[in-house]
Amino acid sequence: MVPQVAEKPKIDLIQEDVSLRSFTTWHVGGPARFFCQPKSTGQVKRAINFANEMGLDIKIIGNGSNLLVPDEGYDGLVIRLGSNLAETEINDRSINAAAGASLYKLADITNKAGSSCFNFLTGIPGTVGGGITMNAGAYGREISNYLKGVKYIDGQGEIHEYSHLPGSFDYRNSPFLDSEKIIVGAELKLDYTEDQPKMSEILESRRKKLPYSKPSAGSVFKNPTNCDKTAGELLDRAGAKGLTVGDAVVSHQHANFILNKGHATAKNIQNTIDILRNRVYKEFGVTLVTEVVVI
Ligand SMILES: Cc1cc2nc3c(=O)[nH]c(=O)nc-3n(C[C@H](O)[C@H](O)[C@H](O)COP(=O)(O)OP(=O)(O)OC[C@H]3O[C@@H](n4cnc5c(N)ncnc54)[C@H](O)[C@@H]3O)c2cc1C
Repeated sequence: MVPQVAEKPKIDLIQEDVSLRSFTTWHVGGPARFFCQPKSTGQVKRAINFANEMGLDIKIIGNGSNLLVPDEGYDGLVIRLGSNLAETEINDRSINAAAGASLYKLADITNKAGSSCFNFLTGIPGTVGGGITMNAGAYGREISNYLKGVKYIDGQGEIHEYSHLPGSFDYRNSPFLDSEKIIVGAELKLDYTEDQPKMSEILESRRKKLPYSKPSAGSVFKNPTNCDKTAGELLDRAGAKGLTVGDAVVSHQHANFILNKGHATAKNIQNTIDILRNRVYKEFGVTLVTEVVVI
């Protein structure tokens, strides 16, 4: 008898063996065995069905600005929700945004409608889906402060809507992180009473403080909760700035940023992370936890 081999269902949406390097802001990482960039919720559901039929694990990515993809890549299906699924619709009191809309676009169109409430997101190079998952924030504000509802798809392909969000959003954490829920859209409330600095001012001030000129994933470690110093301060005091492993280097401008000088591998970056964590533990007895997500 000829053994039965599960045949790959034909589906144009899905590509095979796609390098993830250009889909992360660190520009490192190996290939996804399967990859797709859906243009609609229907296509996301088709991609989930494909993965279920093939028995594949699924990983969702947005702009890859908080991700470390291993050099070996990902042996499953990567679904990227980016500019293909990025419509926004603004109403009087709220804005509906698809998961792939950029945080910059959210701030920009809200601004043009007369509210500065999302200006704090300027310069955070993520998507709405990634931003909600990471509870992105800056200057004392977080995106979850403005969430009215989230539309997501579960691992079986069923669509759900949270109108009352679960209360478990906190610093760089949300109920969507490490879950099988795939955010496809969100409703955010607009606040016209806020008077945040202009987007251009925020960008200028961030460019002075943060190293934007080389590939990075922003802050590598979360600020510790059991310490009065930020992760950046602890790393600076531990002499992290300039530490180099292969082509990965700790920024001289900000000790919590690891930069890719050109040809860094994920292993170079992971080794740097391990060295930094050990140094801070040895010097201060504080265990730093990564903010970046390793897939
Ligand atoms: C230069 C620079 C500066 C930064 N500054 C800040 C800052 O000031 N504040 C801040 O909070 N962050 C900052 N970041 C980090 C990063 O931009 C944010 O965490 C951002 O919200 C990540 O969004 P993303 O779309 O890139 O998500 P990704 O990096 O693609 O994914 C992050 C996580 O979200 C999950 N995910 C993504 N999309 C979805 C979805 N649709 N449904 C379910 N899960 C999803 C992924 O599986 C992963 O676990 C910075 C990064 C850089 C490079």
